[in-house]
Amino acid sequence: MAYLDSLIQKCNSLTLTLTLTLSHIKQLQAHFITSGHFQFCTSHRTKLLELCSISPAGDLSHATRIFHQIQNPSTNDWNAVVRGLASGPEPTKAISWYRTMSRYSHRVDALTCSFTLKACARALACSEAIQIHSQVLRFGFDADVLLQTTLLDVYAKVGNLDSAEKLFDEMSVRDIASWNALVSGLAQGSRPSEAIALFKRMGVEGWKPNEVTVLGALSACSQLGALKEGEKIHGYIMEQKLDMNVQVCNAVIDMYGKCGFADKAYRVFENMGGRKSLVTWNTMIMAFGMHGDGAKALELFEQMGITGVHRDAVSYLAALCACNHAGLVEDGVRLFDSMAGSGSLLGSCKTYGNVEMAEFASRKLLEMGSKSCGDFVLLSNVYAARERWNDVGRVREAMKSRDVKKIPGFSYIEVDGVIHKFINGDQSHANWCEIYSKLDEIKFQVKAYGYVAETNFVLHDIGQEEKENALCYHSEKLAVAFGLISTSEGTPIQVIKNLRICGDCHAVIKIISKIYDREIIVRDRARFHRFKEGLCSCRDYW
Ligand SMILES: [Zn+2]
Ligand SMILES: [Zn+2]
Repeated sequence: MAYLDSLIQKCNSLTLTLTLTLSHIKQLQAHFITSGHFQFCTSHRTKLLELCSISPAGDLSHATRIFHQIQNPSTNDWNAVVRGLASGPEPTKAISWYRTMSRYSHRVDALTCSFTLKACARALACSEAIQIHSQVLRFGFDADVLLQTTLLDVYAKVGNLDSAEKLFDEMSVRDIASWNALVSGLAQGSRPSEAIALFKRMGVEGWKPNEVTVLGALSACSQLGALKEGEKIHGYIMEQKLDMNVQVCNAVIDMYGKCGFADKAYRVFENMGGRKSLVTWNTMIMAFGMHGDGAKALELFEQMGITGVHRDAVSYLAALCACNHAGLVEDGVRLFDSMAGSGSLLGSCKTYGNVEMAEFASRKLLEMGSKSCGDFVLLSNVYAARERWNDVGRVREAMKSRDVKKIPGFSYIEVDGVIHKFINGDQSHANWCEIYSKLDEIKFQVKAYGYVAETNFVLHDIGQEEKENALCYHSEKLAVAFGLISTSEGTPIQVIKNLRICGDCHAVIKIISKIYDREIIVRDRARFHRFKEGLCSCRDYW
């Protein structure tokens, strides 16, 4: 027994120095079996299982093999395997093990629930999480604060935000992790205004946001183009020295880029000095690309090569998108050729351990001609904000199997610090009557200017007049009309659209900028459009 103790201690210290290997674990296992302790000495056996399923040297399939040799596995033995599976490459397996465990009336404890819930979060298994939640209540584990936070985190990650909010409200004791779970959940679940409101409430209640919190809040500001809020958060980051964290700096760059200030983004980029990561460079190239500043994006791309920073598929794609947005056709072709010459490009995807990502990149390259940068920008947001490439593939897989409906188009506009959201044909706004009569006026004015509606942007089989009306009440037009009536003359109007701006809206907003003498900035899914005096900064490359 003393010998086994010292052996386990040795393994533990090897784990700490990362020199533990699977053969050490197998040696330990052999000693257990030959000494006859394997079936009876439960605490040592669980330790062996943990070493095998959780330590970096471990091997999950070997852990399950050891498990199956146990005649009467204890709850701890089960937990060791469930925990390993939950953080392994196939988290759904942890859920199946949990099911087997509860089916054969093995004693499930709070830890089992906690590990399985973590698996649910990674596999985006919403209904399974709900089932486990009801069992948590039945077993009486719901007083466990850690378990409550794990549940909240699962609901936030799978996008069941109502349940997440309910749990949060009901919690008697909250910690920073519970706040963070809800702030990032709201930010990633397309409820960015609420994410920012919650972030502010944290300060009011005396909590100190940390790196995770600011990442969520910055992502919300990026989505809303909420510069003022973003700047405040940036100030807080500097004050608290959270900018020591490279991921936080990357998110600040992304925020400034998406709020329309590539120069501010560039200042943060420069101040990072030698701490720039690959993501930092890529985010900055994307920011220049979104602003149609193809030359600067390309310059940075070249600089990456000179500085010796390894350029990955995203760097190439970002530079290509930038060329596309700036109408730099020849540069784009040159880049494409140099890319085709490097097989290392797709190889770089493999270093992320994701074959699917490599496929995605190669498919995107083919589609680049069809201006599909929108999806890319969207996906790269996930990359920039979380730096979790491995999970991207899983999320996409889960979305495919769940048949996610096409995202409806909507537009945001901020007036006097209040964010207004419009969907196509929206009549829910308090001022909708005024907005619609403004649109009628616009319709009349732009026609007088010689504009003819491009009704081929309407897909429905309806009459000409109805088609014109369908176009007329697009969310971006509603937002611009509201901007015209609610802001003082001559001030710029900024609108954010979650999808690409349509051709008709693009044509009409150009004319509006001329006849109403307003600068109108529309950030769509792929880039910024700055409309001024009848022209757009994209020079119709979009
Ligand atoms: Zn439109
Ligand atoms: Zn444009």
